[in-house]
Amino acid sequence: MHKQDAISLDQLCPKINNKYWRDSLHKLTKYQCIYCGKPSESIDHIYPKSKGGKSITSNCIPCCLSCNGKKSDSEVLNWYRDQSFYDPRRSMAIRAWINNDLKLASVLLDYIK
Ligand SMILES: [Zn+2]
Repeated sequence: MHKQDAISLDQLCPKINNKYWRDSLHKLTKYQCIYCGKPSESIDHIYPKSKGGKSITSNCIPCCLSCNGKKSDSEVLNWYRDQSFYDPRRSMAIRAWINNDLKLASVLLDYIK
């Protein structure tokens, strides 16, 4: 596909583009919740939308509905530290994600089995 085509597709089909983007996030965590490892069913805004958090990759993380609901508007790393499923490697992956180092986040998650 030419670059020109991609741009016009973005403009014509923002919803489709949004779906591809969401899928690409889930793929990075292998469709697992970054917090607890259950199937990821939603995208969590790390810095909440209600506080001005943007819908950009470094602020949007795949997680399960349970974690998304429990975390709510809490500061992510503080909240995560208090969870029964806390894992320091996941904490590092979350930090890498926030720093927009998705490759590192994905590698760290690969070590957790
Ligand atoms: Zn979860």
